[in-house]
Amino acid sequence: LRFNLNTRPTTLNDIFISVKTTEKFHESRLKILLDTWFQYAKEQTYFFTDTNDEKLNKKTNNHMINTNCSALHNRQALCCKMAQEYDTFMESKKRWFCHVDDDTYVNVPKLVTLLQKYNHTQDWYLGKLSLKHPLQIMDINQPGKKIEFWFATGGAGFCISRSLALKMMPHAGGGRLMAVGEEIRLPDDCTVGYIIGHLLKKPLTEVEDFHSHLEALWLLRPNQLEKHVTFSYSYYGEKMNIVNVPGFSEDEDPTRLWSLHCYLFPYLKKCRDIKQS
Ligand code: UDP
Ligand code: MN
Repeated sequence: LRFNLNTRPTTLNDIFISVKTTEKFHESRLKILLDTWFQYAKEQTYFFTDTNDEKLNKKTNNHMINTNCSALHNRQALCCKMAQEYDTFMESKKRWFCHVDDDTYVNVPKLVTLLQKYNHTQDWYLGKLSLKHPLQIMDINQPGKKIEFWFATGGAGFCISRSLALKMMPHAGGGRLMAVGEEIRLPDDCTVGYIIGHLLKKPLTEVEDFHSHLEALWLLRPNQLEKHVTFSYSYYGEKMNIVNVPGFSEDEDPTRLWSLHCYLFPYLKKCRDIKQS
């Protein structure tokens, strides 16, 4: 009997999840991720940061990776982290590379069922569009000519199959992703889109169930939250963009990520603390 290993259904262990973070968010953002969805993907999730944090490294069983990239929010620093996320995925031999930001909640079981629908031996770039039109830039090699490509917004999370990631190697491997980012002068997620969409001419497949804080998160139906794969949150001054989910009070849970976690996994011990109303 011959059994083709590649046709076995995808499981959580076939997925590499990278979280981009930075020193100043270890306390304010990572803690909640570690206490919630990370618990369901401990072996598969790695954090790409810019410092050594022994405490978090212990808590994550050595899954904190100090990229030695600058701790600034600029193109170079972000592309530097993405380049290492890509290289670490390539070393991992997993089927899928999924990137998220540190203000993202990942619905782990849903991510697995999503990826089961796609063949990792084919080229897939799955994510959420941030613009309703392709990004347009000038072609540096042909002055006057424009280049158009789609990119998946990093803040909503995106996934790339190993087949496609392998084709990205000449442009992204060994830190080359950083050089491409420098060349086109765009942030990390746009650089990934440029490599896939323009250099490799592969399409972006939009997954509606990925959500960044560029969308109106409060509009997600409270009774359908289990169908979504990623969620985020943000506060712009007084204005909050958070998921509308019952659970803890907004004082106890301003990001709503704990309430979301308890909505999805109500049997957890911590979730019994929700006051019945
Ligand atoms: N980030 C970083 N270095 C910084 C600031 C932010 O690596 O100096 C990361 C941060 O941890 C997050 C992502 O970049 O994963 C996006 O940051 P943020 O959510 O603050 O900004 P946004 O672009 O979503 O408004
Ligand atoms: Mn963000």
